[in-house]
Amino acid sequence: MNNQTSKTKIGTKALVMGGSVAGLLAARVLSNYFEEVVIIEKDELPDSPTNRPGTPQAYHPHRVLLRGKMIVERLFPGYTEDLLAEGAYLREGKTIQLNYRYGSIIIPDERDVGCSRALFEWVIRNRVRVLPNVKIISGCEVSKLEMSVDDNGQKRITGVQLRERKAPGPEQPVTIQAELVVDASGRNSKLGKWLIQLGYEVPEPERLKVSLGYSTCHFNVPEHLKDKWSTILVEGHPAKGIGTGVFSPIENNLAEVLIFRAGGQSYPSVKSEDYVREAETLLDSTISELLKQMEPVASPRGFRVAECIRHRYDQMQNWPSGLLVIGDALCNFDPIYGQGMTVAAIEAEILDLCLQNHLNGNKVAFERNVLEKMQEAIEPAWWLSAASDLQWPGVEYSGGYSMEGFKFVQRFFDEYLTQAIGKQNIEMFETYMIMTSLLIAPKEILNVEKILSVLNEATTEEGLELRLEYSGEAGILRLKMFLEEHIPTFALTF
Ligand SMILES: Cc1cc2nc3c(=O)[nH]c(=O)nc-3n(C[C@H](O)[C@H](O)[C@H](O)COP(=O)(O)OP(=O)(O)OC[C@H]3O[C@@H](n4cnc5c(N)ncnc54)[C@H](O)[C@@H]3O)c2cc1C
Repeated sequence: MNNQTSKTKIGTKALVMGGSVAGLLAARVLSNYFEEVVIIEKDELPDSPTNRPGTPQAYHPHRVLLRGKMIVERLFPGYTEDLLAEGAYLREGKTIQLNYRYGSIIIPDERDVGCSRALFEWVIRNRVRVLPNVKIISGCEVSKLEMSVDDNGQKRITGVQLRERKAPGPEQPVTIQAELVVDASGRNSKLGKWLIQLGYEVPEPERLKVSLGYSTCHFNVPEHLKDKWSTILVEGHPAKGIGTGVFSPIENNLAEVLIFRAGGQSYPSVKSEDYVREAETLLDSTISELLKQMEPVASPRGFRVAECIRHRYDQMQNWPSGLLVIGDALCNFDPIYGQGMTVAAIEAEILDLCLQNHLNGNKVAFERNVLEKMQEAIEPAWWLSAASDLQWPGVEYSGGYSMEGFKFVQRFFDEYLTQAIGKQNIEMFETYMIMTSLLIAPKEILNVEKILSVLNEATTEEGLELRLEYSGEAGILRLKMFLEEHIPTFALTF
């Protein structure tokens, strides 16, 4: 065994900017490879599972997709039991009711829990706090990256400057040195700006101008409704401007109810007196009828997102050593698909694999390798959510993907779901759900054989049109070429 493989740590100190979900997952991974890991969080962290100013989205429902749960469970074994011990809602044995414009699917839930985003973060943070080599510095904001240039002109991030947020008098920035700095400061990350200030050329990010609005209201769940549903989803109809509604129980006998619309033509109301009426605009009355039986605990709160952004730092010609980025700071998604925390977990897993490789001596282009692999993890979630959001009039996409590919997949999934739900084909439906849970690649459904087998049974106008377009030998060849040209290859191996 040579020196490199016998090493157990890569370096002395790693620093993570931001102590939210992505930052905590990154710190957990880094703790295996660095003697010390420091998390810098601008908020004073609460000493109970409550919301804080740095994560204003936390008032709104947060679910972790299956893939994310599996990774979090690997990083923090038994964390679901921690959530249950803190009072999270046991979803096992309760009913999931999913109402679409194609019909309804009702399935029993599995071993899973419902909880607020604050409780989820609390449980993960408590697990990180007890790691002996991780330190959380709260109430301090990173304000600048520190960089050095060696004799060969190689640039390296060597640490950060931070300032105490409550410090009296003139700001006294403090510098912390670290061999690796990871930006996990969320969707308002200043990384692009800082890199430009350091002389880097930063490419335009991909943008999904989504103009979405959430309105979330918390309700007390009465005894007779307590053990019934783990989720009710009334999915919207974007072309008709009809929003999506979700009901999901969490801890303390509460349920979160969310109403969502995208495209910016109208936002869901946040007035208490309008909330039931707002729910009545959904495709069916399941949620509005339920609301009449529950007491709100506070007025609804809104959240608006003008655009979702996927930074393409992987496309930069130069990237400094010693710097990485993870979570919403790298790519943020339309939250209705519940992908953000799961993608952050996949990115943490990628970081883990790349650090393991580094420890084994493969150090060349470490940072670029991580950035490229993280883009592979982002791609399915980003592409699927963009395809879905583009059904809303008013949503616009700018980036490298083919609009024809998005249009095709909208038409095809419309046919797919009509069949899966219309025929109550649970296996077909579950395959779709497993794909949107990021457990299998979109290519598992979007391949020639699968597409043709679905189109053979076509019932919708769009499906019949697609069948006509791609029938016969010449049609199959056309489909093959279309997929190659317009649908991404999704390099990430699942
Ligand atoms: C309305 C809404 C609903 C959502 N629902 C879901 C869902 O159902 N499922 C899901 O998976 N995801 C959901 N998301 C996305 C999810 O919130 C994020 O993906 C997740 O929190 C991971 O984000 P993050 O840790 O990268 O950033 P954030 O959670 O935004 O955290 C960034 C952290 O960095 C800190 N910070 C910022 N700047 C600095 C600085 N300069 N120095 C130090 N600290 C700093 C902040 O205080 C904060 O703690 C939702 C998002 C929104 C907006």
